[in-house]
Amino acid sequence: MDHFFYRENRLFCEQVPLDQIAQAVGTPFYCYSEATLQHHFQVFQQAFTPCSHLICYSVKANSNLAVLDALLRRGAGFDIVSGGELARVQRIGCPPQRVVFSGVGKSASEITAALEYGILLFNVESVGELRRINELAGRLGRRAPIALRINPDVDPQTHPHISTGLRRNKFGIPYQQALALYREAARMPHLDVLGLDCHIGSQLTALEPFVDALRRVLLLLDLLEREGIPLRYLDLGGGLGIPYEDGRLPPHPGLYAGALLAELTNSSFAQRQGTLILEPGRVIAGNAGVLVARVEYVKEGEEKYFVILDAGMNDLIRPALYNAYHAILPVARRFGQEERMTDVVGPICESGDFFAQDRLLPAFQSGDLLAVRSAGAYGFTMSSNYNTRPRVAEVLVRGNQFAVVRRRESLEQLMENESLFPVA
Ligand SMILES: *Cc1c(COP(=O)(O)O)cnc(C)c1O
Repeated sequence: MDHFFYRENRLFCEQVPLDQIAQAVGTPFYCYSEATLQHHFQVFQQAFTPCSHLICYSVKANSNLAVLDALLRRGAGFDIVSGGELARVQRIGCPPQRVVFSGVGKSASEITAALEYGILLFNVESVGELRRINELAGRLGRRAPIALRINPDVDPQTHPHISTGLRRNKFGIPYQQALALYREAARMPHLDVLGLDCHIGSQLTALEPFVDALRRVLLLLDLLEREGIPLRYLDLGGGLGIPYEDGRLPPHPGLYAGALLAELTNSSFAQRQGTLILEPGRVIAGNAGVLVARVEYVKEGEEKYFVILDAGMNDLIRPALYNAYHAILPVARRFGQEERMTDVVGPICESGDFFAQDRLLPAFQSGDLLAVRSAGAYGFTMSSNYNTRPRVAEVLVRGNQFAVVRRRESLEQLMENESLFPVA
């Protein structure tokens, strides 16, 4: 369920027509619906009510401060993967005990900052990191709360670039090494060994991989308990997919939660009333945002009909990177409009710079506005300045109001850190 819809053939975000925002802000821009973000979060949250849980929204999906704040106000915790994301959750005043820190390459300064803040859990991915955290905690005179990220070696059946739980992936600790590493962690003086974490990939559309991974880690939890290392937190990561309207429908969060909770019911982890942590990103933010762009030109190629936008792959890279499907909607719908087989492309000097290929779409004309759907997650956060294109504005809609929550970058800002080689 989302709050993007047509009223009298105008595309709205909540109670605001997108053409009105375009008029005020210019194009391209990202537009997020606060009600949709919060609705998605609450559906997810409620699905896990039978079990003690903490939902840590994955900041990297969409890290705009206003987006984070909208979720914080609904009780979200946060999964961060960098010192920069830590600074963001600090900026919005998130209680440290609602923050978990994931990622394979945490630097000493990032770890120190997180220790000083007093986060809930470090999801540790290697023995080197474990030693580094222990040492830094010792130096600060603190104890570091840790979980080990275990690689359960299950195939998430998603795009290879976003699958993370296979033996060949760089993520996590190999399942076979887990027990030995837990023993080692338990002996380190400045660590509190509190949890187990796994995250197998992103945009999963089937439940089996999640359930398989859970079964594998529950075996490990039992084993650890018998070893005298009972764990309080089980972090199952994120990864639940969203409908991009190309056929493969992912399960509803209710079904997803149901499958996981059913598997957990008789576990000793549940009997000990352990706390489940989840790190959803895409499923919260993906369909809560669109990228609005304007048609610069239409062009009849030899074999193709091109619609050229003022937005490009630097603004939304998912089609180029993952061959991802994004629905495209006209901001103004015209009755009885003819349709054409269309390639929707950007202005960038790369053949990968497209939003849709060979798609039957309304015959757009120069000057028309269109909305690229499902762009709320991994849209703006993966955008770049390629081709010296300033990053676009971000807008948040709340009911019948909207606000620019990130100004369009200026060329001045874009070049401000550069200088010529100094003259001697
Ligand atoms: C990216 C990531 C997530 C979020 O994944 P989604 O597919 O957006 O739900 C959660 N946990 C970790 C460790 C991640 O790297």
